[in-house]
Amino acid sequence: MKTAVRVADRFGVMEAARVIRNGGLAAFPTETVYGLGASALNETAVENIYAVKGRPADNPLILHICDISQFYACTEQTPDYCAALISAFWPGPLTVVALKKSSVPAWGTAGLHTIAIRMPSNQTARLLIEYAQTPVYAPSANVSGKPSSTSAQHVLRDLDGKIDIILDGGSCVHGLESTVLDVSCGLPRILRPGFITAEMVCAETGLYPELESLRGKPKSPGMKYAHYAPKAELTVINGAPERAAALINERAGDEDKYIGILATSQTINMYDKSKYLVLNAGDRSRPELIGASLFAALRSFDDKGVDIIYAEGIADSGVGAAVMNRLTKASGGRVVDV
Ligand code: AMP
Ligand code: MG
Repeated sequence: MKTAVRVADRFGVMEAARVIRNGGLAAFPTETVYGLGASALNETAVENIYAVKGRPADNPLILHICDISQFYACTEQTPDYCAALISAFWPGPLTVVALKKSSVPAWGTAGLHTIAIRMPSNQTARLLIEYAQTPVYAPSANVSGKPSSTSAQHVLRDLDGKIDIILDGGSCVHGLESTVLDVSCGLPRILRPGFITAEMVCAETGLYPELESLRGKPKSPGMKYAHYAPKAELTVINGAPERAAALINERAGDEDKYIGILATSQTINMYDKSKYLVLNAGDRSRPELIGASLFAALRSFDDKGVDIIYAEGIADSGVGAAVMNRLTKASGGRVVDV
């Protein structure tokens, strides 16, 4: 199959919408990461998403919609605070997991009695769903287990020849996947942290959501898999900037392999750039900017053939919790505190 790459203008969106309507696969930009979309009405197309990504069959997809009525058409018994969440955060990077109406087909939801739904704020994404005339199931547009794609080039690298079309809408604003918030059990629970934080949910609902821990059996099926992982072995070093940098320098000096270091603005000058591939994740006080470039940085370590990556951890609060969630998963749990 030849994968077409199109600018995300009106013509490109119309072409991608036609692909989706006809049962094909189209990658498209959202404000979080690039999605790989298929018509929610087409079982074979949805199965193809799993096939091309190599995604485990028990990992459900997020249904992307362009109209709030589509949320209520698919869900039931949503708690009252759900309306407040939707009016505050949709369109935007919040996925809501709610009880699924039995009329909604089983495909895409991995047979669960709940369904994950979000309305993206990215114009291209919403227009695509509107033109496709169907809600669109879309996971991140990457090979399963790899860092999510935050540019059309990342999608092409992973899925060239396997999907029909990629809409190029430039780099994603947030660069981290949506917050997944479960409302199906009464009280809200964050299954995957993202740009919409627990504090933001609490400010709108008066309910402070429980945060699913990285340890123990995850409630969100997707969170149990190795994820976001570059080819190189990644270790996260948590601690005050100078101490983290000192430990990374000590460890890197002991290795005779090609080392990549994900530094921060606070430490970038503490590493020898002639010896290591040093990338600046950004200012520790701006986790949202670190999140926006995180996956691109992990992918560029791979592109440069780095063997081992050391990444500085940042404060695990606010959007920093989402950054640390992805880094911890990418490391397969190799986290060192100094
Ligand atoms: P992705 O679209 O690749 O970013 O993955 C979607 C995420 O949403 C995965 O972590 C899924 O496990 C999660 N998800 C989707 N549907 C549900 C659901 N019904 N209940 C809990 N988590 C879900
Ligand atoms: Mg994904």
